[in-house]
Amino acid sequence: MAYPGTASTVTPLAPVTHGLKPVPDPDDLLTRPFWAAAAEERLVLQRCSGCAAYHHPPVGVCPDCLSDDLAFEPVDGRGRVYSFVVVRDQRLPAFDSLVPYLVASVALDAAPHVTLATNLPGTGIDEVRIGMPVEVEFEEIAPGVRIPQFHATDEVTR
Ligand SMILES: [Zn+2]
Repeated sequence: MAYPGTASTVTPLAPVTHGLKPVPDPDDLLTRPFWAAAAEERLVLQRCSGCAAYHHPPVGVCPDCLSDDLAFEPVDGRGRVYSFVVVRDQRLPAFDSLVPYLVASVALDAAPHVTLATNLPGTGIDEVRIGMPVEVEFEEIAPGVRIPQFHATDEVTR
């Protein structure tokens, strides 16, 4: 779609889909290690060898120290809800039956400045709160394709 006064020269990328739901692009060089680990139900983050900063989504060059020496390493899957929205009007038919649903960003305890986008399976839209403790789980969205999702955990066990 072109905005008034602009030329439409950019072709939007079509999402890689399985059925109607989008799935990660297995050929994306930057994110491939993240999704490969998720397929094995492991949570990894990209980390800079120069300054030890975590980055997500992955980057080609560290924005903090400009190093390109970046590698993925396992991280603990516990964190807290940093922010959330309730989706009531969405555009993909595959998600029609889920409306209203939650989309949250979770800050990991191991890397508090990194947030991951997630749904909150098992948490109702009236139950979610900022700071709520959560832990990663993996949802298989297509054969062999898993995405990290976070579910609420008991505050007492943290
Ligand atoms: Zn760095």
